[in-house]
Amino acid sequence: MSDLAERKMQFLFTLRSKGISNARVLAAMEKVDRGMFVRGHFADRAYEDMPLPIASGQTISQPSVVGLMTQALEVSERDKVLEIGTGSGYQAAVLSHLARRVYTIDRHRNLTRAAQEVITALGIPNVTVVTGDGCFGMEEQAPFDRILVTAAAEDPPTPLLAQLKVGGIMVLPVGQSDQVQSLIKVVRHEDGFDYEELMPVRFVPLVEGLAEP
Ligand code: SAH
Repeated sequence: MSDLAERKMQFLFTLRSKGISNARVLAAMEKVDRGMFVRGHFADRAYEDMPLPIASGQTISQPSVVGLMTQALEVSERDKVLEIGTGSGYQAAVLSHLARRVYTIDRHRNLTRAAQEVITALGIPNVTVVTGDGCFGMEEQAPFDRILVTAAAEDPPTPLLAQLKVGGIMVLPVGQSDQVQSLIKVVRHEDGFDYEELMPVRFVPLVEGLAEP
């Protein structure tokens, strides 16, 4: 077996051992080559279970965290999904294999541009990459069946709660600082929202406004 094939096998083994058991999620993560989303110096480490630096001081999330968040989101092939925090585009690519349509937004134009290039190169047809402030969601495409936030806010942003369908699920990290954050699962019902705390996590902060070019 080639070294790369072996590393990819180890990657999937690690995902399973960290609690990713959903067959659709594992298959999606097997399809998306994380090496395509990590550039330069760190490309070598793409199949390790670690967050890695990308441009603009941001990070591509740890694969097991991507897996656990995706699993918690319970995405079906009929779903329209919104992701806040495109970053490298890796999470959006994973979602593309599970959902009908994925919209992803980031405040850094250089990141959305690079993510779009990789997504196009991979021939993924159902992801739309947008540059903008995800704190306001994406009003023109709302409502969404699923919303995934990959940057940490103090509380779930109100516009995102408003753009979630009844019966919809949102998964997001919340916390006061970048040290202590929890991954939260929000389910919208006819008459309100249910909140469940899933696990401690550490994400870069959700920052208001577009980034300076
Ligand atoms: N999901 C990404 C990792 C995201 S890192 C991946 O798979 O690689 C978090 C991202 O959230 C960063 O790229 C950052 O620019 C973005 N972000 C932070 N605040 C934001 C906001 N208000 N709107 C949109 N994106 C935001």
